[in-house]
Amino acid sequence: VELLYVPEAARPYLKGTHALIDLNAYASNLQALRSMLPSGSELMAVVKADAYGHGMVHCAFAAEPHVDWFGVARIQEGIRLRRAGVIAPILVLGPPNTEEIAAAQELDITLTVGCSQHLAEIAEAMTQRNCRCRVHLKVDTGMRRYGFMPDDAIDVARAIVNDRRLDLDGIYTHFSSADELDPSPTTTQIERFQNVVEQLGDEGIRPRYSHAGNSAAILTGRLGPTNLARAGIATYGLSPSEEVPIPSRFRPVLSLRTVISRRFTLAQGEGVSYGLSYRAPHAEEVATTTAGYADGLPRQLSNRGWFVVDGEPAPIRGRVCMDQTVVSVRAGVRVGDVAHVFGPGDKDEMTLDAIARFAGTNTYEIATRVTARVPRLYVRDDRVVAWEHLLLGDSGRISEAVESPQEASGEIGEGA
Ligand SMILES: *Cc1c(COP(=O)(O)O)cnc(C)c1O
Repeated sequence: VELLYVPEAARPYLKGTHALIDLNAYASNLQALRSMLPSGSELMAVVKADAYGHGMVHCAFAAEPHVDWFGVARIQEGIRLRRAGVIAPILVLGPPNTEEIAAAQELDITLTVGCSQHLAEIAEAMTQRNCRCRVHLKVDTGMRRYGFMPDDAIDVARAIVNDRRLDLDGIYTHFSSADELDPSPTTTQIERFQNVVEQLGDEGIRPRYSHAGNSAAILTGRLGPTNLARAGIATYGLSPSEEVPIPSRFRPVLSLRTVISRRFTLAQGEGVSYGLSYRAPHAEEVATTTAGYADGLPRQLSNRGWFVVDGEPAPIRGRVCMDQTVVSVRAGVRVGDVAHVFGPGDKDEMTLDAIARFAGTNTYEIATRVTARVPRLYVRDDRVVAWEHLLLGDSGRISEAVESPQEASGEIGEGA
């Protein structure tokens, strides 16, 4: 990315390890997902875990025109979105922290209920407040994590509908194996879910929303009879799994970049980094960079991964350290130069899919590892339009009106 404009407040972040979030790619991924849904179906952008490491507040702002719902895992995450000014419906997908039920209700955050203890606690909290709480009923159709078993779900739905403290807005389930080639576990789950929805319908209980599909289910078209889909990983342009890769029209949103902090030559036979696990076979030009595993780079990339410096692959030499990594470079590289750690792959840099393979995990875990000390810069049309640095509590964005390079001095810092 050639950045045409960077607000002054965000400029220092370019001189150290930083993440770039491509908002054009994010919007286009959201539109692509929407186009894959049956007509009339709504789309939820799942922004839990700080938007899978991309930064939940600025991602939510960017997603708001394209989606109907936001999904988070914890009430605290919903609170964060509301405090930032997000007004769209928010569903907490995980079990509620029962101490936070009142706060959720006050901020119009919809809760998931998936066990009778939580159901009782939500109702009790509403008695005290003399309020109603909007809930989605979670049915455990086979994931065996959270939710009522299909047989119990009918009784529970009846009880909720007859309880003036509760508003049954939705019913849903979650797939265990939508990201695998074998469709049968998903098909079975859809059948069980559909049975519950139909039995409720027979009793005249028809919650406004019924939903099941995650990214993998959208990509494979296994949504069942639902009217809302919950997309996380695919919105960020990343593959749910190796079996369900992301189609090429999606673009990865997140890039990580760092800078060269030292240039030097390893003599033949000299070792580098902890344990001296790499020894130069001959005199070798290398460079130290300021990115390490505490920035989100898996240590499994030691002696395996590569950065891209000056348009060339720069293989990692020796162990990835907590805060620094040494790479092999060409002679012309200088201190202060940018090193591409990972991104969409258009410069032949590592992709998150590639790193996940190296590290023996999935793209979800790699993306969510990008830590609070990495400043995030949000890019639209080659301009940094927002930034956030969790460590310093620094966040801001330029208003739409001054999103032009000519008015570079007119940016508005919003404060955290
Ligand atoms: C995280 C989550 C999602 C999103 O899953 P992706 O695979 O990232 O699309 C959907 N539903 C629930 C219940 C979740 O916890």
